[in-house]
Amino acid sequence: MNRSGGNTEGATWTGSFDVIVVGGGGTGLAAAVEASKRGASVVVLEKTSTLGGTTALAIGSISAAGTSLQRSRRIEDSPEKHLEDMARIASELKLKDNAVLRRFVAGEAAETLEWLGAFGVSFHGPIPDAHSRAPRMHIVVPSMKACIERLEKAASGCGCRVMLNHEVKELVQDDRGRVTGVVSLERERQKLETFHARRGVILASGDYSSSSEVKRKFLPEDIAEIDGINENATGDGYRLGTRVGADALAMDQVYGPELRFIPNLKGTLRDRFPSHPLLGKMMAIALDILPRGILARFAKELLVSWQHPEDAIFTKGAILVNSSGQRFTDETATPSREIAVAKQHNKNAYLVLDQTIALQFSHWPNFVSTAPFIAYAYLEDYKRFRPDIFSQVFSWQDASKWMSCNSDILQQTVADYNAAVELKTKDPWGRHVFGRPLTTPPFFVLGPLKAYIPTTQGGLRVNQSLQVLRASGDVIPGLYAGGTTGQGGLIHYSHGMGLAWAFTSGRLAGLNAATAEAVD
Ligand SMILES: Cc1cc2nc3c(=O)[nH]c(=O)nc-3n(C[C@H](O)[C@H](O)[C@H](O)COP(=O)(O)OP(=O)(O)OC[C@H]3O[C@@H](n4cnc5c(N)ncnc54)[C@H](O)[C@@H]3O)c2cc1C
Repeated sequence: MNRSGGNTEGATWTGSFDVIVVGGGGTGLAAAVEASKRGASVVVLEKTSTLGGTTALAIGSISAAGTSLQRSRRIEDSPEKHLEDMARIASELKLKDNAVLRRFVAGEAAETLEWLGAFGVSFHGPIPDAHSRAPRMHIVVPSMKACIERLEKAASGCGCRVMLNHEVKELVQDDRGRVTGVVSLERERQKLETFHARRGVILASGDYSSSSEVKRKFLPEDIAEIDGINENATGDGYRLGTRVGADALAMDQVYGPELRFIPNLKGTLRDRFPSHPLLGKMMAIALDILPRGILARFAKELLVSWQHPEDAIFTKGAILVNSSGQRFTDETATPSREIAVAKQHNKNAYLVLDQTIALQFSHWPNFVSTAPFIAYAYLEDYKRFRPDIFSQVFSWQDASKWMSCNSDILQQTVADYNAAVELKTKDPWGRHVFGRPLTTPPFFVLGPLKAYIPTTQGGLRVNQSLQVLRASGDVIPGLYAGGTTGQGGLIHYSHGMGLAWAFTSGRLAGLNAATAEAVD
């Protein structure tokens, strides 16, 4: 057996499985469940101490057309229309994504939803979204954490083995280049172990949003330094795959950067719901018959936790201030403001406004954040659901206490900004769009906030069987990839496609690996 490089000598022999899945997020668990269901012996190696990855952090919207839920609501839709809408978005945004995989995921997404349903995953909706001609956004309820638990149960019910704290470091190849296993590091004991795969290895280890090393290769330095949301999304699949000759596509494409408030450490009410399948079903029914306000309450809690503040709050007059109490950027220009936030101390900044702006962002049409068509969060919602990042004060001195900055500096910052607005003095940060001066108490400070790259879009090149390909188009035998690791040049700018791809590619990579010819 040959190794593919790297210092992994001395790894102990641990076991032989039909299929090895690298990563226990949405893609990996879907692959593991499907492969186990087909009778394959399967191990999932997950580097962290919990399953879920970025998938567990997701809002839970899955885009699919031709589903039984759509039919039960007499919504006329089809995979062909879904494909047309995706093609339109790609052309409007001038994206050159992978048209073959786009057709493939549009055709399979409905089946994936039924498949998830069979394991007790429930959906609310479908509801409309900004990009689709028909309501096709299926929202997982009660939460993505519950969805991960359902898949974990299904996997263990089929005899799949899940090994946490196992970080795959290297792929193993035989003399003919076939991938025949992995070397992984057992993190608690710092022990290297070798696993053999008779039928295939599936890379499902997420994206590279938190790897400045991988981002620096493909993106401008300033963008590469912006953090990802999931700190474990470190591009391991990209490194493992390319080391054995895989091609990678669209590596310069990222979602964002965006400003977001720091995570809500308490989690949302939705996350605290038990994961029992019956409860998910009841919640899906309840959300259909309860007044829209109750659904909006759930959605608002998510918005204030995960959505970015709208640009309009800056164009109407809000400013960004760092932890020294100073402005540092033109708040209306993006991505330069996100780049500037990432360069501040602790990569933190605060959003500052006064009562005049606050009143505008207390009702339609001025919202602080939104999931279009689903819900809109106003300043009051931040006060109610995010007291950890919300401060209402009557003096700049009190505002400076919230930010732990020097009060004189903050007052001077606001005075200089107001002079630029009222007296049209030149703004040192080049801002031209000002809105109102910040003169009317109470004042509001929201933060800290940070700049994030929520997800990256590049991934290993794959065919419709989820086999990993070289630049020549040749298959690397024994190696499969899915989810963000095997995104294959697809670019998911429309909502709900990240999860649709993760679960679809995972399910089908699991099926294909499990039914591939075994090589001992
Ligand atoms: C805040 C947020 C909200 C989102 N909401 C939505 C939404 O509502 N709808 C939608 O369609 N998309 C959404 N997305 C995008 C979507 O969540 C992702 O596209 C999808 O979950 C990616 O799944 P994955 O399986 O590829 O990666 P992950 O779910 O990240 O799984 C990868 C797993 O591999 C593990 N791993 C990494 N390296 C190794 C290694 N070397 N060895 C072993 N294990 C390893 C990781 O720890 C992780 O558990 C959202 C993203 C974010 C950040």
